[in-house]
Amino acid sequence: MMISAQQAGDRLGISKRRVLQLIKLKRLKATKVGNQYTIHEEDLKHILKRNESRVLTYVEVMEKLNDLHGMSDIVKKHLVCSMVGHSKLVVADRKAYYCARCGTAMFDVLLDAEKVAHLVQIRDGKLTASNLQGCKWQDTLMVDFELD
Ligand SMILES: [Zn+2]
Repeated sequence: MMISAQQAGDRLGISKRRVLQLIKLKRLKATKVGNQYTIHEEDLKHILKRNESRVLTYVEVMEKLNDLHGMSDIVKKHLVCSMVGHSKLVVADRKAYYCARCGTAMFDVLLDAEKVAHLVQIRDGKLTASNLQGCKWQDTLMVDFELD
């Protein structure tokens, strides 16, 4: 289905002006009909995907929280956990798992085999499991290093 630049903007939650900019930058395909651009609805998905896949790194999140003056790092970490839940990226100990963000012990996960399967373990600062795909942005924002 073909839609107008205004409709595309509404879908993407951006202005018509920004849509025209994206067309000019060749990030969004469009066809000019008369003096109006029409956009293939299907092509919006590429833009949507790009926006969705933008994940804040742990460092970026902490930088944003730095605007909250007088708050210690550990309080900031607990604040993030209270908003998005504990990280699925866990620091594994011999007997326990800890949230890689705030350090809270997560003993309950050991009782739930299915949950454990979806955890991504970190040992010595390295990811050791290959199940990162199962993580959501809440979890992946913990990643402050590049992954292959
Ligand atoms: Zn936590």
